[in-house]
Amino acid sequence: MKNSSRATSAGAPKRLVLLGATGSIGKSCARVILDNPGRFCVEAVVGGRDGAALARCAIELGAKFAAIADASGYADLKAGLAGHRIEVACGPQALEAAARWPADLVVSAIVGAVGLGPTYAAIEAGRVIALANKETLVCAGAPVTRAVKRHGATLLPLDSEHNAIFQALGGRDPSEVVCMTITASGGPFREWSAQRIAKATRAEALAHPKWSMGPKISVDSASLMNKGLELIEAHHLFAIPAEKLAVVVHPQSIVHGLIAFADGSTLAGLANPDMRTAVAHCLAHPDRVASGVAAPDLIALSKLTFEAADLDRFPALRIAREALAEGKGAPTALNAANEIAVAGFLDGRIAFGALPQVVERTLDAMRGAGEIDMPESIEAALAIHHAARDRAAALLA
Ligand code: NAD
Ligand code: MG
Repeated sequence: MKNSSRATSAGAPKRLVLLGATGSIGKSCARVILDNPGRFCVEAVVGGRDGAALARCAIELGAKFAAIADASGYADLKAGLAGHRIEVACGPQALEAAARWPADLVVSAIVGAVGLGPTYAAIEAGRVIALANKETLVCAGAPVTRAVKRHGATLLPLDSEHNAIFQALGGRDPSEVVCMTITASGGPFREWSAQRIAKATRAEALAHPKWSMGPKISVDSASLMNKGLELIEAHHLFAIPAEKLAVVVHPQSIVHGLIAFADGSTLAGLANPDMRTAVAHCLAHPDRVASGVAAPDLIALSKLTFEAADLDRFPALRIAREALAEGKGAPTALNAANEIAVAGFLDGRIAFGALPQVVERTLDAMRGAGEIDMPESIEAALAIHHAARDRAAALLA
């Protein structure tokens, strides 16, 4: 990952593509873009299934091209854009065409490993990519980071913890870092007993105390799987070994990431818990624009607290750490099984307590069957991904 971004010609608005434009991160992008008139120009927007929402988004942002993944939303997209001169298309090739659309920056904010295809298309086009879609790196970290180098692309970390660390690093070589810490809010169940967590409802899991996010990452935050995915993300983004990576629970969500050096110096990134800060940092990089978020008021906050994560009550973090340490295809399988388990929980098919069990059993079965070799290519990663999805889905059935 390079600490640089292609500059636009002086004064010209920066051309953006938004993958996942209708989601939580997509909306944070829209707010920053609309709050900074003349700075950005949205070329293309991509959404999953809700054609009417994507049409509204394309109109609001003045996009030239709107691509939707699911054919079921295509009619609504076309109807919503009737009378507007906005090109529309549907399906995986349309998503990749949007990702390759001429642009200065591509925001990768589709949820899940399904974001890998369009993100990879942007990498092949040598783009600067603001990466929110952590599942891309968990699913296929090594082949993706190799492709980034090969195609001269750049990944800017948009996940708040990684964004804070990227800023704290300030271009220094990550090999100088002796410990890289990402913080976790602890989620809605931080103080709950294991018994109560196991029976948590969908509404309870989605009620995050600090962040407003899409449903999948909200559930991952409640189980602390999100922190596990983020450790794996940090490993690939910063080429930092697993043993130098740490998690600290910090309920106020003001300090997002810290890096410690050999002399004991520690640099931290602080911001209020609002994704517009990391979004604005990535969109404007290497410049700065207003995000609409104030800097933290330390006197008003008065107290910042830190505690260890409890791996007994939150086994998903333990399982993810083990997958990171194991390497090879274990993170790929972990991510795929987790996607199936979270979808099953959101659909009411499994209890919250079953989430880590589905993931661990899938990993164990894949280890036993010799199905987690190192994925040397995107195709190999996707083969492991689909095998793990099938095994996890069978467990749910
Ligand atoms: P979300 O559910 O709110 O939005 C997801 C977006 O992806 C939507 O635009 C949706 O239409 C699109 N999408 C869904 N399925 C798709 C498909 N098959 N093909 C194409 N598009 C599809 O999710 P979110 O909270 O915005 O999170 C997006 C990504 O950013 C996730 O990887 C998440 O882990 C990461 N992230 C989110 C936050 C946050 O605060 N929301 C913070 C850090 C990282
Ligand atoms: Mg995060």
